This record gives sequence, C-alpha cells and structure tokens, in this order.
Amino acid sequence: MNRFALGLGCAAPALAAALASVAALCSAAEAPPAESPAPAQAQPPAAWWLAKPDQTEPKILEWAARFAGTVSLVTAKTRGGHTAYAVTVTDPSLPDAGKKRLVFSQPHAHEPAATAGMMDFLAQLLEGRRLDGRDTDLARRRILAAAVLTFIPDGNPDGRSRSPEAWWDGRRHANEQFLEVAFGRGQDGKRFPRQGRWSSKEQQPERLGIVYEQISDHEYVEPNRDPDSTFFRLVRGALEKGPCGLHVDLHQTEFEKSDRNAMVVLPFMQKELPEKIQDANRLAAEAIGRAWQAAGARPTPEARPLGYGEDQIRYFRKCWGDIYRTVPHVTVEIQNNSLATPPAEQMRLMDLAIRASIDFALRD
Ligand SMILES: [Zn+2]
Repeated sequence: MNRFALGLGCAAPALAAALASVAALCSAAEAPPAESPAPAQAQPPAAWWLAKPDQTEPKILEWAARFAGTVSLVTAKTRGGHTAYAVTVTDPSLPDAGKKRLVFSQPHAHEPAATAGMMDFLAQLLEGRRLDGRDTDLARRRILAAAVLTFIPDGNPDGRSRSPEAWWDGRRHANEQFLEVAFGRGQDGKRFPRQGRWSSKEQQPERLGIVYEQISDHEYVEPNRDPDSTFFRLVRGALEKGPCGLHVDLHQTEFEKSDRNAMVVLPFMQKELPEKIQDANRLAAEAIGRAWQAAGARPTPEARPLGYGEDQIRYFRKCWGDIYRTVPHVTVEIQNNSLATPPAEQMRLMDLAIRASIDFALRD
C-alpha cells in the first residue's frame, strides 16, 4: 500500500505511487519542508472569488465592453444552457505577429480555485488591480504588449453551477464526501466511477457528479478526457489561432496525507515528445516550481508525468496526443479541500503559476 493515499479529485490513483516515491527521495536527499502557517485571510468574500457562471459571466462581459479591442471572446454554448468563454487579451495597438501566445484553461467543476485565480489575474491585467481592490504589481502593459493570452476560466459551467460550494477548504466535507460531489454516487451507494464518457442508457447514478458534462440526450463526458466536451472545443479553438508558446492546464487535487500543496505534472507522453517540446515542458515546470518555492509554497520537488493506467492513457492519448506533440504543455495542481491550503492561498498559488508561466514564455 502507498503511504500517501491521495484523493482522486483530479490526479490519477498512480499519483499516490508517484508521490510516495517522491517522498522516499525527499527523506534521503532533502530536509523536510518547514511548516508554513496558513494565511490569516482564509475565507475570501464572494466579491473576489468568482467561480460560478453567474459570477464569472457578468464580469467577463463587463471587461469585453470596457476594454473592447484589448479583450476578445470566443464562446461555446453548453447543453445545460450556459456559455463557456475563451477570453483573449492583448494590446491591440501592436501587431500579434511576434507576440508570444499562451493558453490557460481549466476543465474540472470541483476545482474552483483555477477559475477564481484566472479571473483575478484577468482583473489585474485589465484593471490594474486585484478583485479585492489591491493594486497589482504586475507589469501589465509589458505583458499585454508582448503576449496574446487566452484564458478559459471555466470549461464546464454546467457542472460548476451544480456545485454546492464556492470553494473547498476541508472544513465542511471530508475528502470522500467531496469526491462524491465531484464524481457522483452510484445506485450501490458507492462513489460513481470516473469515466471519460458514459451513457445514462447503461448507468444511472443516484447522484450526478458535478465533474460531468451532459453532451447529448444520454451521454455524459469528463471534460478533460473527451474531445466533444465544451472545454475541448474551446481549447482546440484557442490552440488553432496560431503557434502557442505554452499551454497551462490549471487543476486542483487533495494531496491527502502529504505535506505538499502544489505540483506541476508533465504530459503522460513526455518521453515520446520532440526534444524541443520536452525541454520547454521541463523548463516551464521548473520555473513554476521555483516561483512557488520562493513564495513559501510546498511544491513537490520535481515535475514528472503521472503513471496512469491503460484506459486513462487511452483517453489522454485520444484527447491530448496531437496537442502535446506540437505545443509545450504543463498541468498545474494546487491543493484542494484541505485546511492546510485555504481558498485565498489556493488562489495565490494559481496566480504564482500563471505569472511564472508568462515570465517563462517571455524570457527571451
Ligand atoms: Zn483537475
């Protein structure tokens, strides 16, 4: 058995094995990380934690109207009646040719800090201040002049709108309860399995997990694992707009019984990728890890691919194989549903990852 029984919120079961081996390395090679106290401001007010569609959509539309030219939107209607957005920002007075293109996205309805972090970063870029009103120290004009940035803050608004919580901080839900909200409950009373696609003709969960998006009368998909999800339609559209310097997918996982609270994961097929892409992935991951480390977070010491099972690999290859071969890509994981990483800290670690990714892409 693995000593580190991680929750399954985002990462695969094999993550536990990966972290156990990381932990083994740590104990030999590195002093245990210092305990860093949780920030005093643990509970963000709703006004600056924008994660549900009825919070994100008005703000995105407000930005598009106020900063017309700087902001452009691509939309995708969901079957559930929501609109998912890809929000692209750049300085329109300068030609896009020569600018670096980056895409940030998030597919999972039970990982709201990714959405809240992207919304706060967009506020800093566009308004010069964070959603809580503090002035930003971001070099926003330089970034907008040098980059074309696309954010997909919520790839599954149907699922997110069904979430009973604005954020997950470990106070109200044990991980098993949290995961039941995420993936649902079967007729047998057990947690409904995580699947790329399933049909209500064959399976009828007693409770529908918020992670799933309904895409037809009978079919439901896990957005990160099916090319027909709204999330994937938006990601593909964003990546088709021109050569992309880096795609960062923002996620959360529980790090249950681990002292870590942040991690960068490399593509499952990292070793099969062209050398240039492998290098870019690794260097981007290191840049993000260094930024977390410098800011007092507790990242895993080394980014690596997760060891997925065969059927998971099948989903990922089908969805991501062609993208990974041509676009540098990293997956960011920030701790979810734990007292050790309150929501304001979750958002800060997302912000650091976004900043480090942009710094990395604009480094030369
Ligand atoms: Zn995830």
